[in-house]
Amino acid sequence: MDKVIGIDLGTTNSCVVLYDGGVAHVIPNAEGSRTTPSIVAFTGDGQRLCGNIAKRQAVANATHTVFATKRMMGRKFKSPEVQRIQMTSPFKIAAADNGDAVVVVHGKRYTPPEIGAFVLRQLRESAQEYLDQPITDAVITVPAYFDDNQRQATRDAGRLAGLNVMRIINEPTAAALAYGVSTDSSGIIAVYDLGGGTFDISILEFSGGVFQVKATHGDTFLGGEDIDARLMDALIEGFRAETNIDLYQDPVALQRLKDASERAKIELSTVEETEISLPFLTADNSGPKHLRRVLTRTELEQLTQDLVDQTIVHCQDALNAANVTNADITDVLMVGGMTKMPLVFNAVANFFGRTPNRTVNPDEAVAVGAAIQGAILAGDVGEVVLLDVNPLSLGIETSGGVFTKLIPRNVTVPVSITETFTTSEDYQPLVNIHVLQGERPLASDNTSLARFELVGIPPALRGVPKIEVTFAIDANGILQVSARDLGTKREQQVRVRATSGLSEAAIERILAEAEQYTDADRMNVELAELRRRVAGLIYTTERSLAESSNYLTESELEQIRADLESARRATESADMNKIQNTLRDLEKSAFRITEVMYRDFT
Ligand code: ADP
Ligand code: MG
Repeated sequence: MDKVIGIDLGTTNSCVVLYDGGVAHVIPNAEGSRTTPSIVAFTGDGQRLCGNIAKRQAVANATHTVFATKRMMGRKFKSPEVQRIQMTSPFKIAAADNGDAVVVVHGKRYTPPEIGAFVLRQLRESAQEYLDQPITDAVITVPAYFDDNQRQATRDAGRLAGLNVMRIINEPTAAALAYGVSTDSSGIIAVYDLGGGTFDISILEFSGGVFQVKATHGDTFLGGEDIDARLMDALIEGFRAETNIDLYQDPVALQRLKDASERAKIELSTVEETEISLPFLTADNSGPKHLRRVLTRTELEQLTQDLVDQTIVHCQDALNAANVTNADITDVLMVGGMTKMPLVFNAVANFFGRTPNRTVNPDEAVAVGAAIQGAILAGDVGEVVLLDVNPLSLGIETSGGVFTKLIPRNVTVPVSITETFTTSEDYQPLVNIHVLQGERPLASDNTSLARFELVGIPPALRGVPKIEVTFAIDANGILQVSARDLGTKREQQVRVRATSGLSEAAIERILAEAEQYTDADRMNVELAELRRRVAGLIYTTERSLAESSNYLTESELEQIRADLESARRATESADMNKIQNTLRDLEKSAFRITEVMYRDFT
């Protein structure tokens, strides 16, 4: 059977892993990093950038750089989450015809699954290159609180990336697998996951290979980026006090500050003190201004203590909701890059009264677990049985607008439940099946997943017809609902999938487009690299020209200036051959200058 990769499609970073021969291989991206920023950017000349490249230019190209779209997956534009994102989002968010949230860049709309697919496609390509074989099968993780719409949307993202999504599993469950929670034992574990933009705390109960999410709490707007922002604000304030310059007005300086803040934060996880040095950060009449500051771990902790404290409040809420106490917890698993920060680690240790488990790299644990699940599905790992549970109750609307549950929450999947219903009026010719998800007693308070009609019911008094309704959830948490009139044997069914905002036809079209764009995407990356090289050479050539123009003849000078000019013009086009040719010419010019500079010494 083909290899099945595991993918953590994260809010901030994504990670892809292959579990093979009992070993988890974290697959590096083209730039050699083990995680890839979940960021997609669109440049002025129609290029699409993804991952590290997109992150590096994010602040300077803010309105066209799309990040953290995972928060919008499967959500309506009007939902409180999306409204909140919109308030602070530098890029544009709008409503699709069906009400779903979409992002708008350069006038083009992208659904969150499409943005997710750009990231997934890059991960898939890294995997193919690294493993030197085609990869299509994958297991993708989602937060435990994701509802059906959000899971469907994630699944769509996978399909758009050309992946066969074999299973969608919960992130905390994946983390538990990665930590080797053994399936023949039982216990209650807390999975503390602090990432770049979100915080999740899940209480899982496991026994006999079945994982139950007993409670999941958190904050979708609390993570490492908030910590970086605190540090950045402090740096900007300090700089203002010294120089009276407001760096908030300078996007390029902001980008450098943001990168430097994150770097300093990460360094302070292992050392007590670090130096932030940003030469030529900005300039005023008196000349260039540099930022230089020594930062200690204690200072960083003081700036961010309250943020870490907030996560602990959620931990208590989760324990309460799961109806357990600290003492019931058999293990605390650390997940998410931010848990490497000593302040976080200590806060968690303090709260749970035990040393948290950090034996698996926290920013890779979820992907490792997904890969283990993949290996199980591929038949490479035999002995583990992993079952997940249905996170929210599923049912139908019955007379009087009441929500009648068929599958309660926390039931182990796969599962199939059948119940018999009847009509509520005399001579009722059809029944309307309205499928909902949620915990509220009234249908209107829950999330509507689908509606369909079962027609042709023979004339009868109310209460006589027998309509059998079956809810079946497969191992991916995907729901299929069918209704059958036992009298006529007529049957109607829906597979709940149309809610992620993409119709089957749209998915097919986007898939075809995406196949077509793979090469184009790679070309775009190469083009961007090439342009950067030319820009660098232009810069150094101009500098050495300024230093050595006295030694050059008029015709040499003319030639070099012409080469500089045509290189500059070539980079404005997207013609790689042309750029490459001008690069070669410019290199010759650069060599000529160097030769001239040393001519007198030979
Ligand atoms: P997500 O699950 O949100 O996609 P991750 O789990 O990859 O994100 O966590 C990313 C966050 O972790 C970022 O804010 C990053 O700066 C932070 N991070 C990564 N490594 C470290 C470290 N060694 N110390 C502190 N923070 C770190
Ligand atoms: Mg994560």
